[in-house]
Amino acid sequence: MTPGSFDFSGRIDRARSVMTAAGLDGLLVSVGPDLPYLTGYEAMPLERLTMFVVTADDAVLVVPVLEAPRVPPGPFEVRPWAETEDPVGIVAGLVPDGGALGIGDHTWSVFLLRLQAVLEGVSFRSATLVTSVLRMRKEPAEIELLRRAAHATDRVAARLADVKMSGMTERDLSRQVGRWTVEEGHDLDTSQIVASGPNGASPHHEPTERVIGEGDMVVVDFGGKLGGYCSDMTRMFVVGQATPEQAEVHDVVQVAQRTAVDAVRPGVMAAEIDEAARSVIEEAGYGEFFIHRTGHGIGLEGHEEPYIIETNREPVEAGMAFSVEPGIYLPGRFGVRIEDIVVVTDEGVEPLNRADHELITVE
Ligand code: ZN
Ligand code: ZN
Ligand code: ZN
Repeated sequence: MTPGSFDFSGRIDRARSVMTAAGLDGLLVSVGPDLPYLTGYEAMPLERLTMFVVTADDAVLVVPVLEAPRVPPGPFEVRPWAETEDPVGIVAGLVPDGGALGIGDHTWSVFLLRLQAVLEGVSFRSATLVTSVLRMRKEPAEIELLRRAAHATDRVAARLADVKMSGMTERDLSRQVGRWTVEEGHDLDTSQIVASGPNGASPHHEPTERVIGEGDMVVVDFGGKLGGYCSDMTRMFVVGQATPEQAEVHDVVQVAQRTAVDAVRPGVMAAEIDEAARSVIEEAGYGEFFIHRTGHGIGLEGHEEPYIIETNREPVEAGMAFSVEPGIYLPGRFGVRIEDIVVVTDEGVEPLNRADHELITVE
């Protein structure tokens, strides 16, 4: 499935109605995921301005003339600008005077500063007010891409179970995971965290030359992009026999992960899903070692709304996709995290990852 098969005209219409309800007179979307979401076009992050301008009546993509050939046809006007033109002036001419505009979060500040200088009476707010409302609720075609990406990571996890990790460096294993992520169907690999032994206590550990050895717990957290949509999955491995403590900590995380997934259904607050995982870990005495939120939304971005965190009192709704990834991190010793992507359905929840959650023993 290509991004071109989405209903961009419906998305732009919905963006307009949310925009109006939010009191915004226009949206200015530059580089970053909001642009392909609304247009199917992914802009290169360049010093030359690309900006999609949505107002009540118009939708215009202002794009450098040399990039214009890459823009797929869509339900919007394309306004290429030549090297000697002023793109900020062109954008300013497309929006109403005064009022409020939503500006994309990923827009370079240099462009916002120039726009602010030209559009004196305008107040700027985050376009995310509008785009996250749309992007959080996935369409069936988006969920299908997330599902295919998740199943591809499941197949990577199955291959990992047969790896002789002992003697490999974290970096070697990380490269292998990246290659398999692509071999199993992703267009590219985006994350391949391998954190062995004490390194596992750092959730976003950067793989090193550390040689994996007997008795190590190994956190492998990986994913890629398929048709523009992300995957993200974490499984746990132990080299040889797990100690009783390693096995216990893994058990606690496994129960916490399952309890949180079981709590997911439409109408439940994100905070309640976080609490479901956190209370299991707290009751087991490891509360202070669960140092991050329980999960994050996923879609065109690896991390996006909704965030599954104690402070998010918003209910989850059918079509929302996010990770459920509790962890316990024991400084200087080891860490455990188990992560699946789930989608909220009309009745409850669909975990997109199917791979077993057990601690996998490898050589
Ligand atoms: Zn993470
Ligand atoms: Zn992850
Ligand atoms: Zn994640």
